[in-house]
Amino acid sequence: MPFVASIPAVPGDAAPKSLRTTSRAASVEYREVTKRYPGQAEPAIRSLSLEVPAGDICVLVGPSGCGKTTALRLANRMIELSGGDILLDGVSIRTRPAAELRRGIGYVIQQIGLFPHLTIGENIAVVPKLLNWSRQRISARVKELLELVSLPADMRDQYPAQLSGGQRQRVGVARALAVDPPVMLMDEPFGAIDPINRERLQNQFLRLQSELRKTIVFVTHDIDEAIKMGDRVAVMQKGGVLAQYATPPELLMSPASDFVEDFVGADRALKRLALLRVRSIDLWKAPLARVGEPTSAVRARIAEADLPHPLAVDADGRPIGWLSERDLARETVPAKPDTSPEPIVDRDDVLRDALSDLLRYDTQYGPVVDEHGRVVGVLSVEIISHFLSSNRAAELATGPAERVTG
Ligand code: ADP
Ligand code: MG
Repeated sequence: MPFVASIPAVPGDAAPKSLRTTSRAASVEYREVTKRYPGQAEPAIRSLSLEVPAGDICVLVGPSGCGKTTALRLANRMIELSGGDILLDGVSIRTRPAAELRRGIGYVIQQIGLFPHLTIGENIAVVPKLLNWSRQRISARVKELLELVSLPADMRDQYPAQLSGGQRQRVGVARALAVDPPVMLMDEPFGAIDPINRERLQNQFLRLQSELRKTIVFVTHDIDEAIKMGDRVAVMQKGGVLAQYATPPELLMSPASDFVEDFVGADRALKRLALLRVRSIDLWKAPLARVGEPTSAVRARIAEADLPHPLAVDADGRPIGWLSERDLARETVPAKPDTSPEPIVDRDDVLRDALSDLLRYDTQYGPVVDEHGRVVGVLSVEIISHFLSSNRAAELATGPAERVTG
């Protein structure tokens, strides 16, 4: 029983030292799953069967009330099956005590559920404490987890109310990862976050997942999020009926029914922009200008670049603004250029999100940065429109969706 063996069910310090080197994943299989709530005429889930290979993200998507949350909560026995079975690495969840099973499965929800009177460190340590880990080991894991979700180490002593919504959500992910669970269940985890921060959290989470390769069942009502996040997407219909289970490109190319077609939406071609990352298309080269350097040197660079506007960067190569004619008329590059560099595009963004950022700021260009915030090129509306009219857009729609690799 590999799944049972892989969970630190027995308290002690013999368990893995580092998430990065020991990450484990288990396959998840729903087999003819049915759920009837007491007093309800219709089942909330009807004979749901689907398999999620170990290390994949499976997104359950569908309209409100179709049974997504129910399907998720059945897997860690927060509610009990009425029929069928769920297997983790081939082993029925019925064979394990519910409380133990739950501790071994990461669970992330929208209202994060952090304890307000506990520090961030204590919140992350809740399950390790239940498992009687030593103080030393808990402390080391908290440190590692904060780093993993890109939060500063000193945040461990702060309280949830001192954090932004996005930071709290990352703490929720860190907490779910605390005992290195082979499976994570995520119920609309980014649903309460504003669109810009949601995009960032999604990208950050995909980066993390490319490292950890957990098996994730992810629930959302947002088809765009499903297409972006899922290795496979399960479109559900009222009554927990599975309308289609497919990769994002398959879903966009060949919706299995009118229901799926409607749900995916009329803008299927545009949605293909969600299958490609900014990092994998040819960006423009901007003439870069360092603060304080002579503008004459910058002018000379404009001729070799793909666009006529110089981009000012700080000493670390981070964008601080576009230089106007007035800026260029000075002796040296000013520290506060006339035009803001927004929107700054993350090279792990999918093209759809990047385009919507450009449109929101009503601009033709956006500096593209790497994970350190350094400029690696410029994205323009023109590049995207070329891409849309190219063969590559059509080819992409038939291949597997791209995933973040770096
Ligand atoms: P979703 O997460 O897709 O919005 P849910 O799984 O929450 O859907 O709900 C599926 C169906 O089951 C809905 O009709 C809902 O009203 C019903 N339901 C959910 N929880 C309960 C419950 N505890 N008791 C009775 N009915 C419930
Ligand atoms: Mg729900």
